[in-house]
Amino acid sequence: MTIPVPTLSRSIAGRVAIVTGAGSGMGRATALLLAREGARVAVTDLDPAACEAVVAEAGPNAKAFALDVSDPAAIPRVVGEIAAQFGGIDILVNNAGVSSFCPLDGEEYEAIWHRAIAVMLTAHQRMVRAALPWLRQSDAARIVNIASTEGLGATPGDTPYVAAKTGVTGLTRGLAVDLGKEGITVNCICPGPIRTGMTDAVPEADKAVFARRRTALRRYGEPEEVAHMTLSLVLLPAASYITGAVIPVDGGLTARNA
Ligand code: ADP
Repeated sequence: MTIPVPTLSRSIAGRVAIVTGAGSGMGRATALLLAREGARVAVTDLDPAACEAVVAEAGPNAKAFALDVSDPAAIPRVVGEIAAQFGGIDILVNNAGVSSFCPLDGEEYEAIWHRAIAVMLTAHQRMVRAALPWLRQSDAARIVNIASTEGLGATPGDTPYVAAKTGVTGLTRGLAVDLGKEGITVNCICPGPIRTGMTDAVPEADKAVFARRRTALRRYGEPEEVAHMTLSLVLLPAASYITGAVIPVDGGLTARNA
């Protein structure tokens, strides 16, 4: 059997991408990179001002859409608006996330648990189901879920986040298996320690110690390094036979045990 060598055209020009939680951190970097590569990008976030700022930076390929992914009524409405304005949907990046550290006996544990699951797990499958009618019409639909290395192992005190992110790895496999027959790929990235809004509060000295002791590359990652992995998964014709994959982008955090 001869497997065709992919051409070197890496274009995603004109394809329509939705990025959730695109107002800052990895979502912002992903929206900017996809727009730079020629995709038309729906920049969605809970924070409308943050969306507008990213769109101003991304240029004419991007449009802002305020979207709280924990609002079940808002998802189909906004996804429908995006599809109508752009004329379809080819790429969905489920990225919105919230820090959810809380000890098991913490007073707010129950609320934090429900928010973590709502924003980082339930929302992802709602986004997929809302976008499906248009993804099905695309000739190369790609879904990328942003999980975390917390979906592969656990940091103490972070159970709601760990549970949500572990759920995302399972959701990715389930969706990949269900949607594979329609040619839709579904993959999941597990970022390790990345410089984003979520890790802003960690003092630089602590970041350096953590990175030196725990990662193979001995440094924190940048949001752009996660964005580049997403780009690799959605570029055409790259990654055409990759689906259901759970890919750490973690500087070797999960590879290292000493
Ligand atoms: P990271 O890039 O590590 O996820 P950030 O805190 O920088 O960390 O980015 C998370 C983004 O997700 C923020 O822009 C935030 O506004 C967004 N976000 C958080 N909750 C929701 C939500 N319910 N709906 C949509 N976006 C959300």
